[in-house]
Amino acid sequence: MTTQPAIAPLASLSSEELATFLATKEQEYAALRRRGLALDLTRGKPSSAQLDLSDRLLSLPTTTRDRSGADVRNYGGLQGLPELREIFAELLWVEPDQVVCGGNSSLTMMHDTLVHLLLHGSPDSSRPWASDLQDGAVRFICPVPGYDRHFSMLASFGIEMLSVPMNADGPDVAAVEALVRDDPSIKGMWVVPTYANPSGAVCSQEVAAALVGMPTAAPDFRIFWDNAYAFHHLTEEEAKSADVLTLAAASGHPNRPIMFASTSKITFAGAGVAVLAASAENKAWFLEHLAMGSIGPDKVNHLRHVEFFGSADGVREHMRRHRDIIAPKFAAVDEALTSALAGLGIAEWTRPTGGYFVNLDVLDGTAARVVRLAGDAGISLTPAGSSFPLHQDPRDRNIRLAPTFPVLEEVETAMAGVATCAALAAAEQLSAGL
Ligand code: PLP
Repeated sequence: MTTQPAIAPLASLSSEELATFLATKEQEYAALRRRGLALDLTRGKPSSAQLDLSDRLLSLPTTTRDRSGADVRNYGGLQGLPELREIFAELLWVEPDQVVCGGNSSLTMMHDTLVHLLLHGSPDSSRPWASDLQDGAVRFICPVPGYDRHFSMLASFGIEMLSVPMNADGPDVAAVEALVRDDPSIKGMWVVPTYANPSGAVCSQEVAAALVGMPTAAPDFRIFWDNAYAFHHLTEEEAKSADVLTLAAASGHPNRPIMFASTSKITFAGAGVAVLAASAENKAWFLEHLAMGSIGPDKVNHLRHVEFFGSADGVREHMRRHRDIIAPKFAAVDEALTSALAGLGIAEWTRPTGGYFVNLDVLDGTAARVVRLAGDAGISLTPAGSSFPLHQDPRDRNIRLAPTFPVLEEVETAMAGVATCAALAAAEQLSAGL
């Protein structure tokens, strides 16, 4: 059970009451610093206990042959092991032939896709995006808050980023439609459809249908459909990812979405398997360019994963074991924030039903201060603004919390500290404004 503090919104306190509140928080913060903590909530990494769940991989595969009898130790099989593609196809609601299984990182596949678009164009237009960059601009729509590495990838190529709100049911369709309708320089957008980083939002079937069906001025518009958390449920109510490839084909834009996923947070983050799924044309286009740099993926690792999971149900079962480890950590985040901040009117946070993050919005103008206060007290948080293009949060209020890596007690301690910092920063700001 959480305790509700018997306190009014901070903004409604008299100056004396606010001064008392501020003094209390200053004392709590001084005590926090004296503890000499060294805790880290910065990145969404699996904990050691989660990695241990997959240790059987270290003694697999038990054979060197795949189902067809091919020797997985040898070159070849650019698209990836068919039996692994079948497992992912079932999980992602696509056809096995639409799936490419690659190396250990889906981010690499996204980067490769973007590079191919820049250098070679797409099946829908042979004009390379780099030519548009040279002649004017290439723009991308970025739902915010979003994944920092998506944004830094675009920035590294000089692609301009246009922010739209990420709502509870996915990107704000009206805002996206208004942007893409008349501007051919807007070539694509990011979507993290299931348990988004960092808000935990799940893109509805309706939003997905609107995004793949909307008119776009760019004929080669692409949606990078990054389903990194497709199977990462935190409750028994398991969200189903929108069936985006089928929706896109039905709306006459089969090549618009390109889907990505990986086992980074299923097996080993550093030694899993990544996948891309797309229309027949997009897949052929991707493989054609991939073939210029690869004779085939690590099929030993593919077979290792096939033996480890056995089937799509094996993946689902395995994810429940992850859930048992991490769900209590997410509950601890909510409990710490609720017990210290509920009713104060200075913070809002998400209660995700899946994924790896909690989105904490503190009082406008205080996020950077909160992160600094926490850091000085030995609690490392993701830098303020990280979930926005160019690290610029226009309201300086957003903080991404990643509770999976530390052990439960550390999450509890760290989050109590973060709550103290959020309350202190808010009290400082409101006092300064009096
Ligand atoms: N996509 C999202 C939304 C993520 O949050 C992450 C990692 O945090 C990744 C992709 C990275 O995926 P991978 O490990 O497969 O490269």
